[in-house]
Amino acid sequence: MIRLSGITPSGHIQLGNHLGAIRRWAAEGGPEDLYFVSDMHGMTTTHNPARLRSLAAEQLAMLIASGIAPERVFVQSDIARELGALTWILECTCSYGEAARMIQFKEKSKGQAGVRLSLLTYPVLMAADILLQGAGEVPVGEDQRQHVELARALAKRFNGTYGDVFTMPKAVLPPSGARVKDLADPTRKMSKSARDEVGVVFVLDEPDQIRRKIRRAVTDGGTRPVFSPETRPGMANLLEILAACTGGKPEVLAEHFPSYGALKEAVAEAVIEELRPVREGTVALLADPAELDRVRKAGAARAAERGEHRLSSALRLIGGN
Ligand code: ATP
Ligand code: MG
Repeated sequence: MIRLSGITPSGHIQLGNHLGAIRRWAAEGGPEDLYFVSDMHGMTTTHNPARLRSLAAEQLAMLIASGIAPERVFVQSDIARELGALTWILECTCSYGEAARMIQFKEKSKGQAGVRLSLLTYPVLMAADILLQGAGEVPVGEDQRQHVELARALAKRFNGTYGDVFTMPKAVLPPSGARVKDLADPTRKMSKSARDEVGVVFVLDEPDQIRRKIRRAVTDGGTRPVFSPETRPGMANLLEILAACTGGKPEVLAEHFPSYGALKEAVAEAVIEELRPVREGTVALLADPAELDRVRKAGAARAAERGEHRLSSALRLIGGN
C-alpha cells in the first residue's frame, strides 16, 4: 500500500509542520510511501516565481534532512508533463459542478478579483498526484479530505467508464496530534504562510531567533505554569511543544517549572535541539547543489516512471493514443 503526502512551498517550514507531519513521515513511513513538494499547488494564487522555486528546493532538502529516504521524495513540477497530461484526462471525467463545489475553492475565491482557473481545477491536479502514483492512502487534514474524496470519485468513474486503471485512494486522518499554535496568538495554529511571523518558529531559524520568539510567547497571565488548554491556551501550547520535543506529558511537565521564565527557557532549548539536526542537514544539502540536484533528478525519474503505465493506459482508454 502506497501512502502519499505533499507539502506546499507557500512559506518556510515551521515547527508545526515538523512535529505534526514531517517528523512522523520520517519515523513511520513505509518502504513504498512517497512524499513530494507540491510547488504547482503554490501557483494557484498570487505568487512570486523566484521565491516559489527557492522554497521548493529548501523543502526538498528539508524532507531529506528530516530522515525521509531520498528515493521516496520528489518535486511535483519535475513531473509536470506527466501530471499535466493526467490532469487533462481527469478533467474530462470531472464535472464543472463537482469542482465548483469544493469548499476550499469557495473560501479562497470569495470576494477575490482575478481568481485563477487553476484554483478551481487544482483538486483535479491533486487527483492526478494521487492517481498517477497509485497511492492507496492519503493522510490529510480535515481541510483536504474533500479533495481526496474527489480523487476517489474520479478514479471510480474513470475505471467504470473506460477501463480499470486507477487504484482507489482513500483519505486517512493522521492520529490526532496536538496542533502547534502560533506563539503570539494561540487561538490560531502556527502556519508557514502566516502574514505575521513573530509567533512562528521556522525550522531554519537560528537558535537565538528561536529563544527570542519563545521568550516573547503569550502565556495568558497567572503566576505559575499549569496545563489548561481551554483557559490558558498560550501556556498549554508551550507545554505541548515541550512534550512533543522531549516525550513527556504536558500536565506532568507543568509541575516541574516554578516560573514562566524557567519553562520558556526549557522549551527554547528543547526546540533548538529538536530542530538542530534538520536545520544543519538542510543547510548542508543546500550548500551542495550538485548532490541536491542528483537526488532531485533521481526522485523525479522514479516518480515519472512509476506512473508511466497508468498515464499511457488512461490516455489510450479515453480515446487518445
Ligand atoms: P499554509 O499556511 O500554506 O496552509 P501550513 O503551515 O498550514 O501552511 P500545510 O502545507 O497546510 O502547512 O500542511 C503541511 C502539513 O503540516 C500537514 O500535514 C499539516 O497537518 C501539518 N501542519 C501544519 N501546521 C501544523 C501545526 N501548526 N501543527 C501541527 N501540524 C501542522
Ligand atoms: Mg495549512
